[in-house]
Amino acid sequence: MVWDFDYTSVNSIKTLLNGSGLYMNRKFGQNFLINRNALNRIMSEAQVKAGMKVWEVGPGIGALTTRLVNAGADVKAFEIDRGFCAILKEKVFVNEKNFTLIEGDVLKNWESEYRNNGAPDLVCANLPYNIGSVFIARLIEERCLPPRMVFTLQKEVVRRMCGEVGSELYGSFSILTSLDYANREAFLLKSTSFWPAPDVDSAVIVMEKREKRIVNEDDVKKYIDFLHVVFSARRKTLLNNLKAGGYSAERVERALEKNMMNPAVRAEALSAGELYSLMKTLCE
Ligand code: SAM
Repeated sequence: MVWDFDYTSVNSIKTLLNGSGLYMNRKFGQNFLINRNALNRIMSEAQVKAGMKVWEVGPGIGALTTRLVNAGADVKAFEIDRGFCAILKEKVFVNEKNFTLIEGDVLKNWESEYRNNGAPDLVCANLPYNIGSVFIARLIEERCLPPRMVFTLQKEVVRRMCGEVGSELYGSFSILTSLDYANREAFLLKSTSFWPAPDVDSAVIVMEKREKRIVNEDDVKKYIDFLHVVFSARRKTLLNNLKAGGYSAERVERALEKNMMNPAVRAEALSAGELYSLMKTLCE
């Protein structure tokens, strides 16, 4: 790779974009990471090794992508912005065999990439805020489980993913994203680390696949559906949510009793394991 570009200089970015007749689009959550220290820390959390298969969502003009490719990774990058795609293909990664661009909406394209070539070793991305949580949830629901994922996300989303049982941030997304992964907030990023600066603060999360799992693989899809039901209305009791989901009150009360759970308990007061045990009793 011979592309030499200072991704931390807003002037250089503006010159490149202006020269190509491009502009930043809010609709696509375009906030480039311009903080060198943050880019270095993300790379260190990513633990890239030569030959690793890496997916990146939203490479933009390549701030993270160039680092991943220079570290020897085989990168597949999903980018929706046709203008950025042109820069990546025609300027940044000309004849680069370790870079493949998948143009279009990642939510439409990732699944066929997964079906054809399997899960990557790593997903590393400064995710566009509008699709971040949906993308992560879809990977887990469809059982595409790379050993490691490192994401820059809205701080609140990271906090929900790390939320402990009983805390305000704990909910179905905390459980879903930690079914297979140990989640860790690596560091915070102020909005000034990005250009243009977003309205919210961000954080980097590291998701490391766990050996020990909470739910048996055969039960995972059923368990995810169960989570949707028990968390469907946050203020309602678990009993009422299950009744609204088609379970008879008598059956639920019996299952709660068998699990020594208070009939007025809410889902957010129960751990992933307790909810699993309740689901198993209900299915007996
Ligand atoms: N990786 C670059 C960086 O860190 O500076 C850019 C990150 S920016 C937050 C998000 C990127 O995702 C943008 O390049 C945007 O065009 C792209 N993007 C937004 N929605 C997308 C989608 N649905 N599918 C693929 N890329 C998308």
